[in-house]
Amino acid sequence: MDLGIKDKVALVLASSKGLGKSVALGLAREGAKVIICGRDRNVLGETENEIKNSTGAKVFSIPCDLTQEDQRRNLTKLSKDKWGSVDILVTNTGGPPPGSFEEFELDDWDGLFNHLFLSAVDVIKKVLPDMKENNYGRILTITSISVKQPVDNLISSNAVRSAILGFMKSLSNEVATYGITVNNIMPGFTLTGRLKKLMDENPKFGEVEDLIPMKRLGTPEEFASAAVFLVSESASYITGASLPVDGGWIKGF
Ligand code: NAD
Repeated sequence: MDLGIKDKVALVLASSKGLGKSVALGLAREGAKVIICGRDRNVLGETENEIKNSTGAKVFSIPCDLTQEDQRRNLTKLSKDKWGSVDILVTNTGGPPPGSFEEFELDDWDGLFNHLFLSAVDVIKKVLPDMKENNYGRILTITSISVKQPVDNLISSNAVRSAILGFMKSLSNEVATYGITVNNIMPGFTLTGRLKKLMDENPKFGEVEDLIPMKRLGTPEEFASAAVFLVSESASYITGASLPVDGGWIKGF
């Protein structure tokens, strides 16, 4: 199926590793011009080369710490200088620390809000005017299954990510007549570096497979397939939606 992504400019946040990288790779396979970003210049360079070599697509990497406003501004400016306005934006960040309520101080919440919420909102604010002018855009936020069903010992994610959900749903309504879709994708337990670390540090995470109806973890490739579809031309009538890619983990309907 031609997803209609060829030559679209796609900016994927936090994409040197893990889910962001798998989405960048999926978009590159469909012929998009992909801009990746992350904090570590070396890892980013390796990822850029890996995606270029395996897909032949145009890939450009920009070092950026998404918690810093000046770096976000630089990211969107360099991206526009390179290939013009962004058609597809996938927001993502590194995962928040695990822990329960007692383990977080007020300052921690400030940091979490900046990291998980403001980083996405600000990049969206910076690319949206061009999307409106072009009457075209795809915005997809990577959140977590935690926005539909809290994950134990992950109060930071459970709390702050829910704000993104409300923001995305409101935004989807505000920009719907501009040909811009705004959706949210919720990864379940997916085998990335972050999950391996969480499993190593917390033995309880080792038991998660038992709670997944499919009795296995997801792969980054399975996640990317769904994400790429949601930002494609083929998904033109889907907006304001939240899609779980979780092997059935979320219990509600
Ligand atoms: P990961 O640790 O494998 O990759 C995270 C990426 O974010 C890396 O490229 C890292 O360099 C980048 N990053 C981190 N902080 C950054 C910053 N300040 N600025 C720029 N880049 C930054 O994690 P992942 O498993 O790919 O998870 C991605 C997101 O999805 C996280 O927010 C995570 O909480 C969420 N999530 C993951 C799972 C899972 O099972 N993997 C499940 C639910 C939600």
